[in-house]
Amino acid sequence: MIVSVSGGKGGTGKSTVAVNLAALLSRGRRLVLADLDVEDPNDHILLGVGLEREEPVNVMLPFVDYRRCTKCGVCGKVCDTGAMLISPQGVPFLIPRLCSGCRACYFACPEGAIVEGGRTIAYTYLTDVSLDGAEFELVTGSLREGEEHTPPAVLAAKERALSLDADVHLIDTSAGTGNSVATAVDGSDLLIAVTEPTPLGLHDLGLILRVAEELGIESWVVINRAGLGPEDGHVRLAEERGARVAARIPYSREVVESYVGGSPIVLSRPGSEAARALAGLAAMVEEVMG
Ligand code: SF4
Ligand code: SF4
Repeated sequence: MIVSVSGGKGGTGKSTVAVNLAALLSRGRRLVLADLDVEDPNDHILLGVGLEREEPVNVMLPFVDYRRCTKCGVCGKVCDTGAMLISPQGVPFLIPRLCSGCRACYFACPEGAIVEGGRTIAYTYLTDVSLDGAEFELVTGSLREGEEHTPPAVLAAKERALSLDADVHLIDTSAGTGNSVATAVDGSDLLIAVTEPTPLGLHDLGLILRVAEELGIESWVVINRAGLGPEDGHVRLAEERGARVAARIPYSREVVESYVGGSPIVLSRPGSEAARALAGLAAMVEEVMG
């Protein structure tokens, strides 16, 4: 089973939900947690572990063979990221950090003047996590500083995670509802949308539920920091979208302390109200898993 934890808006606590679910669902089953928030991966920090077994994520980087180039400008026209610029004199030149490695210029050049090179845009890591009865594997995607194209890094980390044998793959996505999030959640059996009781949280909840709907993924809603504001709109929206409100996690100092301490609250403070809410959520996921 593949379960994604997402949320539209940043800072809603989706990583907190993901690492706590990983700690609970890994008991008695093989679990892989994939941190696909490649611009700012932090699951390893919340779990208090380092990043191990690094692998590079390489993409194609084109080079122009100026001996063959006839300055026709076709490569600049087909490049939709603005990476291949054409000078007023018709000479193509590349801005590497804007290049996604899509190869469109390579295939379009009528002179065969584009030569394939490569570069490393990101790394993936595989870390064994062992915490107080919770044992699972963590795959992390991490974009190199200055790089702008997240989907290849998300895809590489996702493929590495899915290549590992497990009963459940848990995917922690980045914020937003763009390509990176769609790439991360595509193929999931369940999407858990973590929101907060604020107007912006409500707005972004609508967006992520729509993404789930478009991709044909069943979605649940988790209201984090419950009690901070009105939740009627969130509940109504969930009903309209056919999503179940699966948990309400109260805002508390204990959640913040466990966050700072680098230990999931379900392990460090299992008796707290927040830990009990997360345990209830994990039990619901287990029920669906059968
Ligand atoms: S498409 Fe090929 S020939 Fe035309 S400008 Fe680009 S590199 Fe030169
Ligand atoms: S590989 Fe794609 S993104 Fe890179 S320069 Fe060529 S067309 Fe543009």
